[in-house]
Amino acid sequence: MTDKVECIVIGAGVVGLAIARKLAMAGREVIVVEEADDIGTGTSSRNSEVIHAGIYYAKDSLKARSCVAGRQLLYEFCESHGVEHRRIGKLLVATTDDELAALAATKETAAANGVDDLTWVEADQLREIEPNLKAVRALMSPSTGIVDSHGYMLALQGDLEAHGAMIAFLSPVLGGRVESGTITIETGGEAAMALTCDILVNAGGLGAQGAAHAIKGIPQDSIPPLFYAKGTYFTLPGKSPFNHLIYPVPVPGGLGTHSTLDLGGQTKFGPDITWVDEPDYEVDPARAVLFYDAIRRYWPALPDNALQPGYVGIRPKLAGANAAKYANDFVIQGPGKHGINGLINLYGIESPGLTASLAIAEEVAAQLNVR
Ligand SMILES: Cc1cc2nc3c(=O)[nH]c(=O)nc-3n(C[C@H](O)[C@H](O)[C@H](O)COP(=O)(O)OP(=O)(O)OC[C@H]3O[C@@H](n4cnc5c(N)ncnc54)[C@H](O)[C@@H]3O)c2cc1C
Repeated sequence: MTDKVECIVIGAGVVGLAIARKLAMAGREVIVVEEADDIGTGTSSRNSEVIHAGIYYAKDSLKARSCVAGRQLLYEFCESHGVEHRRIGKLLVATTDDELAALAATKETAAANGVDDLTWVEADQLREIEPNLKAVRALMSPSTGIVDSHGYMLALQGDLEAHGAMIAFLSPVLGGRVESGTITIETGGEAAMALTCDILVNAGGLGAQGAAHAIKGIPQDSIPPLFYAKGTYFTLPGKSPFNHLIYPVPVPGGLGTHSTLDLGGQTKFGPDITWVDEPDYEVDPARAVLFYDAIRRYWPALPDNALQPGYVGIRPKLAGANAAKYANDFVIQGPGKHGINGLINLYGIESPGLTASLAIAEEVAAQLNVR
């Protein structure tokens, strides 16, 4: 038997939860189908937990717009819902004079995105606020923060359930079809089901392309390729050497081996970037050598053997190391692209997807004319 529901969201990561909450709060009947047994077990629990200001992204890109708007919404949400967070501030550092031009360019990119609160911090002032930092100059971003990402997702879940939505766990989307204006999905697991809906939002993260390919009727050429960019973290036990988040000048594909703190005071370094063929969450301890080199550029006193293997997150990239077919942006794909009313596919929701999640939910609702 096929049941009917108004809206289905694939994926109970931070983005799927934010979208389901938005739809439920707009009075829609919503089911979230999630293959894991809990919320946020994918990329949403394998990231830096940084509330990004919106500094690096290309002007007018979806990443820039949704990060700046999402950051504001996220701070307000955390305050209204009691989610632990802190506007800790971030220093973007030039360790040599050669990096100053890149930093100045970053300040301009940020301003073009509406992030106009970056200020220069000179070397003598840096010695006062961050005595362990080696840098010739830095930019301070006061609106960068950190958040308890799991607490945030629990609050999203609370809101969506309070508005009548539900999450079906252990329900992988294995197939489906689009015919005569109706979308049907088929889920596996012990409670396998077929569900038809008017609105389907595919927020499957690393599984978004797989879910789209499994649903007959979605044009195959509308589904972008998927590349896995593995990011490894190492942690530092004990007291943090820094009071702010420390970001060196960005490297291609990522933001460099930065130093972040979580709300429990744990210091972590990373993520680096390696391209892998399949999601692989193993930390390769041998990579520590590269971390020592990268970190000592801005923290020369890092002791030998101080770093411990941390964890891994995988960025769902739409372009590989050298490819350029898909720009380096989020893709929120509606009927204009694939021709199916009521269907939204989200692809490439890498960083800053956590920060942007509430703004992404607004964008999806707008594309669906849900208010
Ligand atoms: C290393 C790293 C660091 C990052 N740091 C930051 C940061 O500091 N700040 C920031 O703003 N962003 C950061 N991000 C980005 C952020 O973590 C992601 O953008 C965000 O978590 C994506 O959420 P999501 O819901 O789209 O994906 P996910 O969290 O991966 O959720 C997708 C869900 O869909 C489910 N699913 C997949 N396929 C199916 C299927 N067929 N059927 C049913 N369920 C399915 C999965 O089980 C999963 O639960 C980082 C990302 C990485 C990789």
